[in-house]
Amino acid sequence: RDDRAELVILESELRRAIERNEIEVHYQPIASLADMNLAGFEALVRWNHPVLGLLAPESFLSLAEQTGMIKDIGRAVLNEAAHQLGIWQRSFPLPQPIFVAVNVSSVQVMETDLIDDVKQVLHREGVIRQTLKLEVTESLVMQYPERAQQILERFRELGVGLACDDFGTGYSSLSSLRKLPFDTLKVDRSFIAADAQDNRAEVILESIIAMGHALGLFIVAEGVESQDQVDRLGELACDFGQGYFIGRPLTAKQVS
Ligand code: C2E
Ligand code: MG
Ligand code: MG
Repeated sequence: RDDRAELVILESELRRAIERNEIEVHYQPIASLADMNLAGFEALVRWNHPVLGLLAPESFLSLAEQTGMIKDIGRAVLNEAAHQLGIWQRSFPLPQPIFVAVNVSSVQVMETDLIDDVKQVLHREGVIRQTLKLEVTESLVMQYPERAQQILERFRELGVGLACDDFGTGYSSLSSLRKLPFDTLKVDRSFIAADAQDNRAEVILESIIAMGHALGLFIVAEGVESQDQVDRLGELACDFGQGYFIGRPLTAKQVS
């Protein structure tokens, strides 16, 4: 990260990656914990680098945010994910249609016309109302509380779901829950990973779920890695689970 020269190379490579379609979207299943049925997916960006192979977002997203390239990457992920969602909903009609959740960074929310992009994509792909969801973290709200609130309110009116991602890891979670029109709360995996003997972690997890439910939110537990955790979360009436035990991120082809 400190190596300027390396950063410059990476930056130009990333620019080219967008043009060469090396940016891919993978989909991690999210299950309903009551019956372990598939409920939807989270769209996760990957860079299929010609030499380095498949790169996780942590290796390029902060650069993408600093340089503004996240705007193009984010738009590509949104378009791709909504396109796939439309295809899956038409190919596999279900009483409870599946959803896809797309991560958006604060740069995208504040510096692009995300509302217009979302409106267009919903119309073009014909996805069912409330099945496209956006995941935002609290840093967005921390930085631009009022504008963020206005924009998120518009998404709600458009019938787009809103999830508060990585809940419990930031500084302003509680005030953002009070002010913003979230319908889903994703509990950070650090609260799920703690072992069952850790009473304090258990109390916190239980309280987060109870609070979320009292606020009328769906709860998604992140980082579910064992049957034991599924059982424990089921006892706590947690709605959804996501994690390696339920399924790893898949390509669109693997999903179908
Ligand atoms: P996130 O939104 O919290 O996504 C969940 C991350 O946890 C994913 O990492 C996923 O692969 C990982 N994960 C899932 N199940 C497990 C598990 O059982 N155990 C463990 N240890 N990890 C698990 P990934 O794909 O590396 O993404 C990291 C972060 O990058 C995401 O965290 C999200 O904040 C961001 N991100 C991913 N795609 C996008 C995107 O298209 N746009 C933006 N702005 N951010 C993205
Ligand atoms: Mg997420
Ligand atoms: Mg998360």
